[in-house]
Amino acid sequence: MSILDNRPELRAEIEKVAEVAGYLWQKGWAERNGGNITVNVTRFVDDTMMAMPAISEPRPIGKTLPDLKGCWFYCKGTGKRMRDLAREPMANGSIIRITPDCAHYEIVADSPVSPTSELPSHLAVHGYLLAKGSPYRASLHTHPIELVALTHSPKWMEKDAATRMLWSMIPETKAFCPRGLGIVPYMLPSSVELADATIKAIDEDYDVVMWEKHGVFAVDTDIMDAFDQVDVLNKAAQIYISAKNMGFEPEGMTDAQMHELSTVFGLPK
Ligand SMILES: [Zn+2]
Repeated sequence: MSILDNRPELRAEIEKVAEVAGYLWQKGWAERNGGNITVNVTRFVDDTMMAMPAISEPRPIGKTLPDLKGCWFYCKGTGKRMRDLAREPMANGSIIRITPDCAHYEIVADSPVSPTSELPSHLAVHGYLLAKGSPYRASLHTHPIELVALTHSPKWMEKDAATRMLWSMIPETKAFCPRGLGIVPYMLPSSVELADATIKAIDEDYDVVMWEKHGVFAVDTDIMDAFDQVDVLNKAAQIYISAKNMGFEPEGMTDAQMHELSTVFGLPK
């Protein structure tokens, strides 16, 4: 028995997570247990699910997040591999609910798989999104090779320097990632400082935030859209690097071409 049985909408959402996990592995962005996915699945929870007993004791989140009252999440399991999650999402992740005090969570299904150690920061982001009235329900952390490589040069760590270059590589980049790439300087993985800096960057209106010498954190309506934004940006980085490998600096689209694109497609200038 799985909590996904007879819940086609919830199942479809978890199958999207599994599909994306497979892409992350295939792209080489998810070595070992690298990367994290959390999805707010509250809108798929029915009365029967609400009444289900927990299969774990309540565990502290580490902070109190009042915006998450009554919320349910799918979370990748701690130490689990994306390539395994792609085949068996409910054996490599679990569905949790936030307890009424908004300071604990309990695992409800399907197995007592402990959520990612990044849970507090992911939940803090979800809380921020809900408080803002955002329609975004998915968050993704992964290690896209070419985007991470860029951050090893201070030139691309300047605010919006990487965004301008990436947008100019191919018109679709700005069309499908219109808010660009936020930049967060190196901070210790899993730290409160990194979580706070990420939320600050999302608040500045970025959907994809680059963590220097580490990876990206992306948010969007669902996990497929979050993946697509990262994929589009990394493709642009690959084009830049391919040109450099051919021995020249890529020209990039001109400012006039970028302006025309933004005008015709109604993108932010
Ligand atoms: Zn990471």
